[in-house]
Amino acid sequence: MERHKVHHLVFSSSATVYGLNSKSPIPEYASLSATNPYGRTKLFIEEILRDWSITIPESSIALLRYFNPVGAHSSDLIGEDSQGIPNNLMPYITQVAAGRKEILTIFGNDYDTVDGTGVRDYIHVMDLALGHVKSLEYILNSRGCDAFNLGTGKGTSVLELVEAFELATGQQVPYQISNRRPGDVATCCANPTKAKNKLSWEATRDVVEMCRDSWNWQRKNPMGYLSSYIRPCD
Ligand code: UDP
Repeated sequence: MERHKVHHLVFSSSATVYGLNSKSPIPEYASLSATNPYGRTKLFIEEILRDWSITIPESSIALLRYFNPVGAHSSDLIGEDSQGIPNNLMPYITQVAAGRKEILTIFGNDYDTVDGTGVRDYIHVMDLALGHVKSLEYILNSRGCDAFNLGTGKGTSVLELVEAFELATGQQVPYQISNRRPGDVATCCANPTKAKNKLSWEATRDVVEMCRDSWNWQRKNPMGYLSSYIRPCD
């Protein structure tokens, strides 16, 4: 990068860098830690970039800490095609609605939250994409390394998301309650004020829109991309 005079960088980091102990809504200055290998890659790369920005005065870096991206492009052409068993909640919900999975398992209903299920800050991928555009504009006119939360600041529980999905799509999502998933926190929500003030960016799409667009993509691509396209390697 040095050789080619690349000094501007937008890094896709994650809210996972806040570890397990942060109190929501989480500001960017909260303490950082890793609780799994994925989180540690994000933390390490953030640290490398912070170090690099100190040694290269002309560098300008935005570390974007994504909360829980969901949704799809409204064209129905670009969406999330989870391979194997989806780890994340929204692709699991859409696969249950599409009949690919029988039932959603909710990991714990005894958290200290509105209804006992885990609360997260879901953000529409199109809002997230716009956050990148705003970040790019910002780093082209600034110096240094700065972190930004990309979230809505609004928390939604697992049961609330299931309800919103059923309402937005008319699809039923049968579920069962099981034990907590190890390593899960009760609540993880962003304080998105810094991004609003410095990037002039704010998420505008609500969970109903997120559910509708996630489902539209899944409905048009019930078996993922494999069902829609003949791949050159097939
Ligand atoms: N979750 C769930 N069932 C699933 C997947 C996720 O109940 O099949 C819950 C999980 O315990 C958490 C929330 O949904 O409270 C969001 O989980 P996800 O893995 O999507 O995001 P993360 O926990 O990494 O923020």
